[in-house]
Amino acid sequence: MPHSQNATAQSGHSHGPAGLEDMGLVLTGLTILGLGIASFSAFLLPLPEWAVTGALVTAYLAGGVPAGLEALRELFGKFRLDIDLLMVVAALAAAAVGGALEGAVLLALFSLSGTLEHRALGKARRAVEALMALRADTALRVAGDTVVEVAVADLQPGDHVVLRPGARVPVDGLLVEGYGEIDESTITGESVPVAKEVGAQVYEATVNLNAVLTMQVARSLDQSTVARMIKLVTEAQGMKAPSERFSDWFGQRYTVAVLLGAVLAYGVLMWLGTPPQQALYQAATLLVAASPCAVVISVPAAILSALSAAARGGVLFKGGAALERLAAVKTFAFDKTGTLTTGRAEVTGVVSLMGEEAGFLRLLAGIEAQSEHPIAGALRREVAKRGHDPILVSDVSTSPSEGITGRDEQGPLWAGNPRMVQRMGAALDHALLAELQASPQTVVYLGREALVLGAISVADQPRATARQGIAALRASGVRQIVMMTGDRRAVALRIADQLGISPQEVHADLLPQDKVALVDQLAQKGAVAFVGDGVNDAAALARADVGIAMGAAGSEVALQAADVALLSEDMARLAAAHRLARRTLRIIRQNLVFAIGAMLVLVTSGLFFHLPLPLAVLGHEGGTLLVVLNGLRLLADPIRTP
Ligand code: ADP
Ligand code: MG
Repeated sequence: MPHSQNATAQSGHSHGPAGLEDMGLVLTGLTILGLGIASFSAFLLPLPEWAVTGALVTAYLAGGVPAGLEALRELFGKFRLDIDLLMVVAALAAAAVGGALEGAVLLALFSLSGTLEHRALGKARRAVEALMALRADTALRVAGDTVVEVAVADLQPGDHVVLRPGARVPVDGLLVEGYGEIDESTITGESVPVAKEVGAQVYEATVNLNAVLTMQVARSLDQSTVARMIKLVTEAQGMKAPSERFSDWFGQRYTVAVLLGAVLAYGVLMWLGTPPQQALYQAATLLVAASPCAVVISVPAAILSALSAAARGGVLFKGGAALERLAAVKTFAFDKTGTLTTGRAEVTGVVSLMGEEAGFLRLLAGIEAQSEHPIAGALRREVAKRGHDPILVSDVSTSPSEGITGRDEQGPLWAGNPRMVQRMGAALDHALLAELQASPQTVVYLGREALVLGAISVADQPRATARQGIAALRASGVRQIVMMTGDRRAVALRIADQLGISPQEVHADLLPQDKVALVDQLAQKGAVAFVGDGVNDAAALARADVGIAMGAAGSEVALQAADVALLSEDMARLAAAHRLARRTLRIIRQNLVFAIGAMLVLVTSGLFFHLPLPLAVLGHEGGTLLVVLNGLRLLADPIRTP
């Protein structure tokens, strides 16, 4: 089958502009038209000689020239014989022995399956091109008390931009004024609009539906979520799945073998005294019968279809390799905060040991001002809601899974969990703190050296779809599901209980390196997927057989460390993606078995039972078309909630 080397798009040829693709369609159409006219004349109503010849020449040119050029490029560019060459030689050989019609059938079907393959390929690429097309050109930047229209590329982090109803969000940022709904389907695949209030993140290329909003630019254009998705998808195309490498490798070796075999067969037949005409006929039949088109196309057809079906559902795979590894996963490990839970925690209790609450909250918001941790965001929002401004804190540095340290005018400060408290040599013996500690909530303590200044508790809540997502994973045969968290055990157990995860499956009080060690330990019993948000778990994401970044519409680290990005908030899609991966592998196996089997039958009958050329052509191309269609079935696979 066509362009095996391009199937995974490293040559760039199949990833040319959409115009090339349309051209392919026209050429395929012409080939089939030529073939149709010639067949009409042969089987139904004889047409004048010149019409038939014209039709056949058209079919050969339209079907054969692109393949021939491709073959020559491979041959002289990379010193590789590929299947395009086999097909062109086979068609010419057929024509030479009076089988011009059979040769045309060969070229027409070859061209058709090539076009189909490019369409599947193009789909994934078009999803990205569509994203690029959705990027706004200009934005309304606030300047004093007016707005000016500026090019999006000129926006700087910190600028304020006005979003009119119906307008596309020009860059990633934070909402600073207004309340409204945003359609994020372009990046999450989620069709239900999301309500956004002040402080919420908004992403480039999503649509502001109904209100006038003001946003603050958070990232420049080249670092936006969309830019990173485009990069991800482009990089992904270079990463081949093992089975793809197999079919490439096989196609290469085998093509050479078949060409040599056909030449050899011709020689032997001549030597045996077969008339040259018939020897050529049989060699051509053998060539067609033995061409490994179906084997070579079977893998990319399935993988590309699956990748683009997944992308439409908001699940991005970094290439076929990630897809194949996901299919083998038996254990799913989940990070808690920001992954199983929303990270938009509500504050449930405040204890200030420094008198007035406001002073305590201002210090807390100050030290958390630069943290990326979801808890820090929740604290900042709460303090802002209560109308307090953060105090300026400098020299901020984070201690992963413990908390954060810094300093203000009066000296060093820290905020964090009991482990942080312990490290600072502080004591939690105050009566007011006991109540907070007793509740199964996440408690953040604020202190200065060995003195605790107060504490705040936040109720981290499970994502709405988490329970269902976990149930779906179990239903689809996942052996083990575990929760890993840096939070304390009481909180972890409460969340686990709400999600249907048993206490034995909960690992709490972990540092980032503990998560990595646990992933390694689980991996001894089979492939492990780690699902995380990139905060304090990027190492585990990278270490797992499959790292899955959850809610990746925000976090850069997560996208880089992971193999799969779940852009949708819907956790049930995890199970859907897992099923899709396993289905893809099944289809690949079916295709390989079928394709190799069909080839063996054709070659055997070619060698021993005088297989007529038309039958060889039909068997060969019919088989190829079947595996392509079998692979394309995955395109229709809904990766939505079951
Ligand atoms: P998880 O593994 O559940 O995602 P993390 O490892 O990210 O949780 O965090 C573990 C705990 O560390 C949090 O529950 C919190 O108590 C504390 N922590 C981490 N970062 C901060 C921060 N910036 N401010 C306060 N506490 C923090
Ligand atoms: Mg986390």
